[in-house]
Amino acid sequence: MTHRYSALSLLREGLGGQTGWDPAWRDAVPKERYDAIVIGGGGHGLATAYYLAKNHGITNVALIERGWIGGGNTGRNTTIIRSNYFFPETARFFEFSLKLYEALSKDLNYNIMFSQRGMWMLGHDRHGMEMLRRSANAMRLNGIDAELHDEATVRATIPGLSTAPRFPILGGLNQPRAGSARHDAVAWGYARAASTLGVDIIQNCEVESFLIENGHVRGVQTNRGTIRSETVGMAVAGHSTALAAKAGVRLPISSYALQAFVSEPVKPCLDTVLLSPATGTYLSQSDKGELVIGAGTDQYNSYSQTGGLQIITHTLDAICELFPIFRRVKMMRQWGGITDNTPDRSPIQGVTPVPGLFVNCGWGTGGFKATPGSANLFAHLIARGEPHRLAAGLTLDRFRTGRLIDEAAAAAVAH
Ligand SMILES: Cc1cc2nc3c(=O)[nH]c(=O)nc-3n(C[C@H](O)[C@H](O)[C@H](O)COP(=O)(O)OP(=O)(O)OC[C@H]3O[C@@H](n4cnc5c(N)ncnc54)[C@H](O)[C@@H]3O)c2cc1C
Repeated sequence: MTHRYSALSLLREGLGGQTGWDPAWRDAVPKERYDAIVIGGGGHGLATAYYLAKNHGITNVALIERGWIGGGNTGRNTTIIRSNYFFPETARFFEFSLKLYEALSKDLNYNIMFSQRGMWMLGHDRHGMEMLRRSANAMRLNGIDAELHDEATVRATIPGLSTAPRFPILGGLNQPRAGSARHDAVAWGYARAASTLGVDIIQNCEVESFLIENGHVRGVQTNRGTIRSETVGMAVAGHSTALAAKAGVRLPISSYALQAFVSEPVKPCLDTVLLSPATGTYLSQSDKGELVIGAGTDQYNSYSQTGGLQIITHTLDAICELFPIFRRVKMMRQWGGITDNTPDRSPIQGVTPVPGLFVNCGWGTGGFKATPGSANLFAHLIARGEPHRLAAGLTLDRFRTGRLIDEAAAAAVAH
């Protein structure tokens, strides 16, 4: 059987009729007991299971997913990866994650199609430019690549931008190392690597409640029976409040639907990621040629995986304003995901009042880019019982002490 992906194995399998490939991961049946349970088979949960095994030698791990792996926000996002945050705590963290992405295809032996094509933010007025200057300075102070450009350079780099007076373009901020990766590949690559190290990936298994004895978590009750462990990590995104409540834990998270669309494929015309904060939209072009367009969240809480119609029309209006040439492009698909948002728009990673139960949530509209970094540090927390120094500011306490990290500007329409 063929385990490793390489040019040689591709050639061998190509000549041999593709019959020798191993399944990418084992679809496991739950055992009675594990050293650790990770709930949620999105990128964060799968990668946490992988780093538990790889970095900490904890391989007797159950990864429990109620549907199919990567079927939540991980498979629904617009795949933008960047580290242009404002405060040192978040900038350091997202830069750590971006660096892990740079080496991830090799680490996982799986092509995640990481493409560092840059990300531009447009300045449409004097105040917008002031914000971009502020971001550029903060990024450079945090050691992150940032380039501020004038209108002529923006137009030379991104052809087709509107010249109409409604949203003039005064300049732009580029992070050249930003870009995108294929989201399914990130989930599948981690699943394959975790499974190879011994992790049990258990799909169609919903955690319905927690076993708590003498105040300590002792396992979970699922629709496929009881699974015991003294250590349980939650990475369930938009379902975080509902699930944590079953352990008696209240989380400061609000769930909102966030949606995205793709167009019919067109010839290559946009080789960067573009964000227009003033019009409230962003877009890139996929390898298949589709325009991948992102919107803002609904303005009311819900657990819907669709999203409001007015958000669609607003976003497509903005795209037509920015790129008049796209007015004739047809939209092919639209979908939504349930995002988990904190009041300060920074994530939560930490212990809970229930010993043995750990949470990783609050990634809101921007957690795809955080996947390797967040999971790496969450695995550290689960294995050692205390946060890594890079995640020390992200614990639940900050909502009690008031040490908030207000990243609303960096995490708003910019996912
Ligand atoms: C439309 C959209 C666009 C986005 N664009 C970007 C972007 O461009 N860049 C970026 O960085 N981020 C983006 N995001 C955000 C990003 O997708 C998420 O922050 C990230 O994928 C969260 O990963 P996760 O593994 O925590 O969650 P998920 O992938 O949602 O995984 C959580 C899993 O938990 C499972 N689960 C829930 N409850 C239970 C239970 N009781 N038992 C067992 N399993 C359970 C769910 O089925 C789900 O599979 C976007 C999100 C959306 C919706």
